[in-house]
Amino acid sequence: MANPAVVSTPPPLRLRLDAGALVANYRALAALSAGGQVGAETGVETGAAVKADGYGLGARAAAARLRKAGCRNFFVAHWAEAAALSDIVPPEEITVLNGVGAADMPAALAIGAVPMLNSPDQIVRWKNAGGGRCHVMVDSGINRLGLGMDQVAGGLASGLFTGLQIDILASHLACADEDVPQNAQQLAIFNRAAQMLPAKRRSMASSAGIMLGAQYHFDLTRPGLALYGGIARPEMAGLIQQVVFPQAQVLQLRKLPAGAAVGYGASHICAKPTRAAIIAIGYADGYARAFSNRGGGMFDGARLPVIGRVSMDLVILDASQAENLREGDWINLDYELGRASAASGLSQYELLTGLGNRYHRVWA
Ligand SMILES: *Cc1c(COP(=O)(O)O)cnc(C)c1O
Repeated sequence: MANPAVVSTPPPLRLRLDAGALVANYRALAALSAGGQVGAETGVETGAAVKADGYGLGARAAAARLRKAGCRNFFVAHWAEAAALSDIVPPEEITVLNGVGAADMPAALAIGAVPMLNSPDQIVRWKNAGGGRCHVMVDSGINRLGLGMDQVAGGLASGLFTGLQIDILASHLACADEDVPQNAQQLAIFNRAAQMLPAKRRSMASSAGIMLGAQYHFDLTRPGLALYGGIARPEMAGLIQQVVFPQAQVLQLRKLPAGAAVGYGASHICAKPTRAAIIAIGYADGYARAFSNRGGGMFDGARLPVIGRVSMDLVILDASQAENLREGDWINLDYELGRASAASGLSQYELLTGLGNRYHRVWA
């Protein structure tokens, strides 16, 4: 009998990841961050958010390629994410955005990544532990993590920041993907905080914020979504390339008569005789149920619409237009993020971070 431990079988679904597109997106964002001033060296650095396993692509593979492209500032949410990168990215280049809780302290000091300190308690904890270099987040209006302006003023009065080695003073925009007065309001608050609290570097813009203009760039930008092909604002459309291409194998082809009911809940009834292809991807792979009767795949130039509901491990396509399609062939799912977001109603962030563990991730 075969030993199950040595039997390996290639999964019937894969993520093709375009390393050239990832690096091109990084370079495009770096050029935008530098103000697009041809030949002018503005000194603005461009970092990379690689939290949530590199937005689902694989943080290690993404970070290695970004570092090779010149990135020296990486952002994760958790200490475990920093630890998982620390053999390929020097830990001092890794920022842990969620800060440092009491239970994190031993790991934080051992790993050597740098916390984004978000509250007076965290600042005291870090100082008492002799943590050294750190970053500080100021909340300029998203009301999420960070010190409020009252805490900045109070901290200055009480000596909270005395002896703190602040490298990056950061803030985060709530509505950078929209043109609303809150962007300028947050910018004004952050500028005030930066005047009050000296730091080596200042950082405010994520992907969408980069498009708001040079006054939002400060010393360091920290895009995530756009690196991975996300169109954070419409004006990015021509500048950012698709990186993630999910592909799934055809498990079975069948001929369905007119009137056949397809999938769970019988949500699609064939209007005419239909050639159906059953492919090996489902909502467990991040191909959400929202793509039911709305998503699609491509084969040989033909578009194969999703018919019926997406199930956990399977999707049914109308392959009537793909006469050459055979069992075992690979379908390219339509996963251009702007289009897939419009079709599914899911955000581009969810479309990326939901990609599961069953894919064979293939960088090319
Ligand atoms: C996730 C995150 C980013 C990156 O945002 P994108 O919209 O993906 O570019 C930057 N800064 C902070 C604080 C974040 O949480």
